[in-house]
Amino acid sequence: MPLLLLDLDNTLLDRDGPFRAWGEAFLAGIGAPPADIDWLLSVDADGLTDRWDVADAIRDRYGLRVPSIDLVDELHDGVMAKTRLDPLVACALRIADDAGWVPVVVTNGVVRQQEAKIRRTGLDRYVADWVISEEAGVSKPNPRIFALAAQRVRMPLRGAWVVGDSPEADIGGASAAGLPSVWLHRGRRWSDTRFAPTRTVDGLIAAVATVLAG
Ligand SMILES: [Mg+2]
Repeated sequence: MPLLLLDLDNTLLDRDGPFRAWGEAFLAGIGAPPADIDWLLSVDADGLTDRWDVADAIRDRYGLRVPSIDLVDELHDGVMAKTRLDPLVACALRIADDAGWVPVVVTNGVVRQQEAKIRRTGLDRYVADWVISEEAGVSKPNPRIFALAAQRVRMPLRGAWVVGDSPEADIGGASAAGLPSVWLHRGRRWSDTRFAPTRTVDGLIAAVATVLAG
């Protein structure tokens, strides 16, 4: 029974689409040029930028008087409302489970936000458990977070695969833990020379197929 250690954002759940959709609607709502979405996407950096910093950047750029906390909430709720679990991803997780793999989510981020996404999309019904960096006290690429995930489900880390879209956090973390990995390229080319993914695919379903094929 090997472990399948899965990243959350832009791996199990699309984040790029919902963030972009929220951003476009928000910018239209304050009368900002539609092209500013590129600025907003760069500030957000795939969710790596702290939400409060994103809110402050928006307030500064547009001279908004709305309190940062309201913007942070609006961003969180807006992206959440548009986040859905792809039924094919759910299906792939079920197939992995049937084949004896144990899917565990390993994600960097804030508990409130990440756990809400896992539960409200119904993803919690398709994974054995989840580890979120804020509560774990350690973030990817630190390999200790993968060891914690294994402990959480009382399984050995040995034989596990890591699946994710972040070169540094997911593939670098897998490499540091000595685990094989699948990288979701999202149209990017691999460029890091320090480590490399075992396999490269275009999405979660292909990643699960690759792992199951051995
Ligand atoms: Mg990710």
